[in-house]
Amino acid sequence: MNFESRNFIIDHLNIILLCADTMMKTVKIIEIYNSVLGESTFSGLPATIIRFAGCNLRCKWCDSKFTYTRGYKYFMNDIISIVRKQKHNFVLITGGEPLFQRNAKSLIRKLLRSNKHVIVETNGSFLIPRLNSEKISWIIDIKTPSSGMHKHLNLENLINSRKFDEIKCVISNKEDFDYAIKKIKLIKKVPPSSILFSTVFGEMEAKELSSLLLHSKLNYRLQLQIHKIIWQPDERKV
Ligand code: SF4
Repeated sequence: MNFESRNFIIDHLNIILLCADTMMKTVKIIEIYNSVLGESTFSGLPATIIRFAGCNLRCKWCDSKFTYTRGYKYFMNDIISIVRKQKHNFVLITGGEPLFQRNAKSLIRKLLRSNKHVIVETNGSFLIPRLNSEKISWIIDIKTPSSGMHKHLNLENLINSRKFDEIKCVISNKEDFDYAIKKIKLIKKVPPSSILFSTVFGEMEAKELSSLLLHSKLNYRLQLQIHKIIWQPDERKV
């Protein structure tokens, strides 16, 4: 075998190995199911929801503690097949923290290639990968002092946020509210109507937060977690 033929075979073997590696990639998820979206400006729209396992933070009022240690490994290609069969335009990736898993970005790319609109909820502590698509919306948390995790916010995520992104602030008192307003000043492109304020469930009344928003005159949006109103607050896969 001459030198060129040998190189040709090695190149093709490498491509085959790369494809096999992509097909074998897994992510650890808690559940995949269909529901109406409970949060963000997409609230109320039908979607397929993929809940990732694992989180790098430990918010004091976390309502998803069940994601910390459980989960099942899924091949990404199997997830794509499931999502395609559901025929919903929107796919929500939530957690836990999706970016805690290094294969999250590959899965998002695959979903975008399947022509889905992908919404990703992230706690804002990892640098968000910037993918060149209008069909991805990042919902980025500003963790407030009552979470105990506010020091983990990666400010670059706010500075580089795009007009398709949304910012979520979960508030349990006036200190949280004032803190969030200060951080929001770093944001340039996200419109005020995509800056979402919700209460820590059971710790602050929505009418109290409404009053803070009205007095601020900043035109940010009050967000109610509609899945907790439609179903029982701790009900899963709904
Ligand atoms: S980032 Fe989300 S999942 Fe992680 S601890 Fe905080 S609330 Fe829970």
